[in-house]
Amino acid sequence: MRITILGSNGTYPTPSHPTSGYLLQHGGTSIWMDTGSGSFAALQSVIDFNTLDALVISHVHADHCVDVLGFYHAIKYGGRPQTVIPTHVPNGLAERLKGFLGDPDHPLGETLDFRVHADREHVTIGGIEFDFTITDHPVPTLGVRATAGSGRVLAYSADTGPQGEWSWIAAGADLFLCEATYQGPADEKPWSHHLTAGEAGLIARQVGARALMLTHIWPTLDPGLSVQEAEHTFGKPVMLAVPGMAVKV
Ligand SMILES: [Zn+2]
Repeated sequence: MRITILGSNGTYPTPSHPTSGYLLQHGGTSIWMDTGSGSFAALQSVIDFNTLDALVISHVHADHCVDVLGFYHAIKYGGRPQTVIPTHVPNGLAERLKGFLGDPDHPLGETLDFRVHADREHVTIGGIEFDFTITDHPVPTLGVRATAGSGRVLAYSADTGPQGEWSWIAAGADLFLCEATYQGPADEKPWSHHLTAGEAGLIARQVGARALMLTHIWPTLDPGLSVQEAEHTFGKPVMLAVPGMAVKV
């Protein structure tokens, strides 16, 4: 399984740094996971978007979903209007997108075949098995455990705080892609529904993740310091998600 980082900024994009977006590929299957701002342009520098097999969108916050609208328009009005693409989402996301388009009955779903998932649901997409969980975030948010046919596991925290039982998705994962929005002491972070880098490292160690990659770092922070803080609690070297990089899991 291969993951390409399309964007990894937390909350808002900066030049050459889109927000959350990842391309998962395995055995001929290509899945765009999180469609954050700027990630659709980045996706097109990697593959032809017409070849995608499915989308997985973790939640309704703009830095994780907004570029799906540009993708929809590209598909619908760009020459392949009959395309129907499975789009795996949490509850409420489809309705929010239709609201943005100004019509609760908008035919968006004729192109994006919305498949709503709740906690502990499972789906097979091509050669990858997906298990979902609901994370510690104020809107329904899907954490993801993706298992390739080879048995290799990629876990993705999406956006989350430390509370709840979501972190089972990362148990023994070969790569845990975990949000690390903040730095410093956890009890001083601005918002409880995100993680510090230290919390990300600690959770990764507690669940036995084999490797940890930080993502969703607040754009004005020094990511090198985030890596240092996560390595201190993880106890092993930690990777940083950088747009354009690809990693074999
Ligand atoms: Zn969020």
